[in-house]
Amino acid sequence: MSKPDEDGKLRSRLELIGHKVLVLSGKGGVGKSTVAVNLAVALAAAGKKVGLLDIDLHGPSVPKMLGIEGMPLHGGEKSIRPFVVGDNLLVMSIGFLLRGSDEAVIWRGPLKMGVIKQFLADVEWGPLDYLVVDSPPGTGDEPLSIAQLIPDADGAVIVTTPQDVALLDVRRCITFCRQLNLPVLGVVENMSGFACPHCGKPVDLFGSGGGEKMAADMGVPFIGRIPFDPRIVTTADDGRPFIIAHQSTDAGRMLAEMAAPILALPGRTPGAGKAPEKTGCGPFRIAIPVDKGAISAHFGHAERFLIFDVDAGSCKVAGSAELDPPEHGVGVLPEWLKAEGVTLAIAGGIGRQARDLLSKSGIEVVSGVTITDPAEAVRAWLDGELAGTDTECNHDHGKGCGHGGGCGKAE
Ligand code: ADP
Repeated sequence: MSKPDEDGKLRSRLELIGHKVLVLSGKGGVGKSTVAVNLAVALAAAGKKVGLLDIDLHGPSVPKMLGIEGMPLHGGEKSIRPFVVGDNLLVMSIGFLLRGSDEAVIWRGPLKMGVIKQFLADVEWGPLDYLVVDSPPGTGDEPLSIAQLIPDADGAVIVTTPQDVALLDVRRCITFCRQLNLPVLGVVENMSGFACPHCGKPVDLFGSGGGEKMAADMGVPFIGRIPFDPRIVTTADDGRPFIIAHQSTDAGRMLAEMAAPILALPGRTPGAGKAPEKTGCGPFRIAIPVDKGAISAHFGHAERFLIFDVDAGSCKVAGSAELDPPEHGVGVLPEWLKAEGVTLAIAGGIGRQARDLLSKSGIEVVSGVTITDPAEAVRAWLDGELAGTDTECNHDHGKGCGHGGGCGKAE
């Protein structure tokens, strides 16, 4: 049985996420992880802040597909930080917890459930536009517990290959979603046809069109067909997302187009600087640069930093501390704040490079605030009323940056 505080923590994390999409398949090896990775990359390329959670306990392949296999994980005592890829893709995989990629994961049922729950509750995603979950295949306990732990998921993208046997499994998968009231966002038919490298004529390796027909029969949307392309295997092995490496190929275009129905999902997308809805808002660590107790106009040159801890659930400040920043240097402050577990920075003025480095560290930035009292700014943020103007660094006290050319200076 889960503890109530664990449930609260999980709820608070999920409340900061605009859309949650589960990628499912009736069985393994059909390209579920390939779809999950490329979907997450396509959403991130569309400017969304995206989390990719690889919870496929039996074959966590996301780190390899993104070239981040074996990377060390960081975190505090009670949470782990996702790995940041590019500008706005955060990744967490059960694979990061394994010693080697060949290590088998043999966990008994209850332990598996605990790991899945911990992944969801303890990963410091912060506010996200989308969370894409690469779920274990099939319709067993693991996808079931994921669906139950994310009760407000937007729905599932179901990946299949066109053969009859895979289609049988996918029918079971759709029935499974219906039993759980999990909307089916659509079916992707993968490895659908193959352009012969010699004559260019299409070859139906596993048949083609079965997924579309099955989707029509079962009354669920069809997202599209991705052809078999051997380069999908090589780019995955090299750790490069296919839609980046081969964007102009048929498979690259089709994989990128999968994002369209997901981008069109209606509903709340948490925007930068807006407080999450009032049912819960943390746990959060907010950092504010201060000079003589007032919010500093120079993020990188502030005397001290005030740190506010916001309690999960109650949306109230649970504590605060004042810290001395480390010596000035490029990228030093973002690294330091990340190590302190900060998830949001509220600033007067901030350089573009510092802002980029903070966001790469998973720290959201609200800048250009005119309120000078830090506690008041935090209260306004929690009430969703903090206005930021995205002001860049203000070393000249409003007369321009002083670093020349629109201030790209790192802080
Ligand atoms: P799953 O997550 O369903 O187990 P993966 O995404 O790991 O499947 O894909 C299984 C293998 O098939 C991987 O080696 C992957 O690179 C390859 N693959 C996936 N889709 C295609 C495709 N359309 N064409 C060629 N190979 C593919």
